Amino acid sequence: MQQKIDQVVAVLQQAVREFSPVCFANSLGAEDMVLTDIIAKNQLNIEMFSLDTGRLPQETYDLMQEVRKHYETPLQVYFPNSTLVETYVAQHGINGFYDSVENRKGCCFVRKVEPLRRALSGKKAWVTGMRRDQAVTRGTLEVSAYDADQGLQKFNPLLEWSNKEVWAYIRQYDVPYNKLHDQFYPSLGCAPCTRSITPGEDIRAGRWWWEDPKNKECGLHVSHGSQVAHGSGVQAVSNTSLQASRERIIEIVSQTNVKQEVSA
Ligand code: SF4
Repeated sequence: MQQKIDQVVAVLQQAVREFSPVCFANSLGAEDMVLTDIIAKNQLNIEMFSLDTGRLPQETYDLMQEVRKHYETPLQVYFPNSTLVETYVAQHGINGFYDSVENRKGCCFVRKVEPLRRALSGKKAWVTGMRRDQAVTRGTLEVSAYDADQGLQKFNPLLEWSNKEVWAYIRQYDVPYNKLHDQFYPSLGCAPCTRSITPGEDIRAGRWWWEDPKNKECGLHVSHGSQVAHGSGVQAVSNTSLQASRERIIEIVSQTNVKQEVSA
C-alpha cells in the first residue's frame, strides 16, 4: 500500500512541478476521497473543486460539508449556468434525460461539462480519480496524457488501483466517504441517474442504468472527438442533434458573456 501511495504522491508532485496551476476535479466518490486525503496530507499546491449539478443526493452534500470541516484544503463548488438549465428544462422537461442518450448528454453538458470548462479555465493540468477497471470506456487511459478536448494535461494517479485498494486506504486512514457507498452505491453521480446495485453487478451498473454501457460517460472524461465518432448510425444521428443542441447552448452562452468558456 505504501508503495502505491508514494507513486500517487510522485505523480501529483510531477503535476505541480511541471504544470502549475493544477486543479483536482473532486467528485466526492471513494477514489476522489483518497486523492483528497493524499493532497491534503502532503500539502500539495493543487486547487480542489466540485461540480454541484443541482441534482446531487443529500448524502453527497453531507460529505461536501464534512470535507470542509475535516480538511483545511478549501473545496470550491461550481454551479451550472442558470440560463442554460432553464432553457434545457423548457425544451426537454425536468427529467428529460431519461428520454434519449442525446437528451441525457445534453443535460450532462449543461450541468457538468460547461461548469467544468469554467473550473478548468486558466489551469495547465487537472487531476481525476479515474481507475482503469471502472468501466469499458476507461480501458485505454494513461496516468498522464494531454487532454486535447480541455486543452491541458490530465493526470489519473489512481489509474492502476483496484476498488479493494481504494477501500483499504479509506479504512486505514479513516477517510470521510459518502454514506451511500454503504447502501450498495459503489459509483455515485446525480440522484435521478444513480441506483444501487446487487452483488455481482458491474460497479458502474447503477449509473444511467437504462443505457448501453458504452455510452456511460457524462462528457467530463470523453474527448469531444470520441463522443462524436463512436457508436452506430443511430448514435451518429443523436450526436448530430447533440451538436445542434451545443450550438444552441453556445448561442445562449454568448448572450450571457461566457462564450469563451464553451468552445464546443
Ligand atoms: S447525471 Fe443525470 S441529472 Fe446529472 S447532469 Fe447527467 S443527465 Fe443530468
